[in-house]
Amino acid sequence: MKYIIFLGDGMADEPMEELDGKTPLQAAFTPNMDSIARKGQSGTFLTLPEGFPTSSDVANLSVLGYDLATCYTGRGPLESASQGIDLAPNQIAFRCNLITVREGILEDYSGGHVSNEDARALIYALQEAFGSDEVCFYPGVSYRNLLILTGEKFSEDLKYAKPDSSQDMKVDKILLKPKSKAAKYTAEFVNDLTRRSCALLENHPTNMRRLKDGEPAANLIWPWSPGKKPNFIPFEEKYGKKGAVISAVDVIFGIAFFARMEQIKVPGATGFIDTNYEGKAEAAIRALEKNDFVYLHVEAIDEVGHLGKLDLKIKAIEDFDRRCIGHFLKHFKGDLTSAVLPDHPVPVKKRKHTRTPVPVSICGPALKPDAVLMYDEVACLKGALGLMKGDQLMRRLFGL
Ligand SMILES: [Zn+2]
Repeated sequence: MKYIIFLGDGMADEPMEELDGKTPLQAAFTPNMDSIARKGQSGTFLTLPEGFPTSSDVANLSVLGYDLATCYTGRGPLESASQGIDLAPNQIAFRCNLITVREGILEDYSGGHVSNEDARALIYALQEAFGSDEVCFYPGVSYRNLLILTGEKFSEDLKYAKPDSSQDMKVDKILLKPKSKAAKYTAEFVNDLTRRSCALLENHPTNMRRLKDGEPAANLIWPWSPGKKPNFIPFEEKYGKKGAVISAVDVIFGIAFFARMEQIKVPGATGFIDTNYEGKAEAAIRALEKNDFVYLHVEAIDEVGHLGKLDLKIKAIEDFDRRCIGHFLKHFKGDLTSAVLPDHPVPVKKRKHTRTPVPVSICGPALKPDAVLMYDEVACLKGALGLMKGDQLMRRLFGL
């Protein structure tokens, strides 16, 4: 038996007036997801329990059944790992977004989805200006970069604003705050770095060119979700299955790194709506030749949810259904148990993650179909799986 999870990042939503009270998942044409629901069992899954940030790293760790209390230290260390940076015990890694600020307001958490090339130029300039034994900037994918601090005097015990949930807010009000006395110095140190980044970035030729081309300037750094190196039980040890992940984003590869799962990068996988859906499906088929399980993650849907673009969200859901799930199901040969779910909702109206449990459907020879016929937020509420938490979803998938 082979196993796959089709993970549509941020796919769940809420009923919308524009859709006559339907959710985007209900409104979109999704025959492949619906077939998983119809042939299998459905339910909901709590991916973002209270007490943890409402972020994708937490949510994807939840889906994979990892205990958040012992495994989750922050997004920074996960993304560092996926870049091959092995954090020392005295190092703290922050995710460092390149964002757009206008008149003191956080306008865009992604610097206009700044290109890799532009981001790289800006991050190198930051490193040249501010890099030291204590401060190091690393370029990542697009706006998703890293800041690593080295030294015993630094603490990760910080309250931070998640930039994609803080759009239209006043930057001054949402800078880092210490959660303990030990972190006071770090908060001041990083906030000072953030403020000083503005002048450098605004005057950088890359941003000058972006403005001339009508693109937003990526004119501020936004360091958040700091943490030290975490410790996981390897996936294979936990479930007795060999696993691989397919994604475009570092945070998912970071999880795979610590879970010791194979990390598969697909040419043309961009983390946005122009991603290579078919390529991901084909990579999953190949990966299942030597693995028992594939986690096929698609970021695009989340990104357009944050942009508040309903039409693009529906298109991204339909592309995911047809070009990724459909393509996989059409070409995969063998016994399969598959699941479809998002990691968390990103309601288009709210443009940020919510903790509402997500709809999930699982289909495989060991699961007797329940009465659910469609895959969506409403239909799955009536499914036989009920509300799942912790590692219940993975155990259902694997029949453990
Ligand atoms: Zn997400």
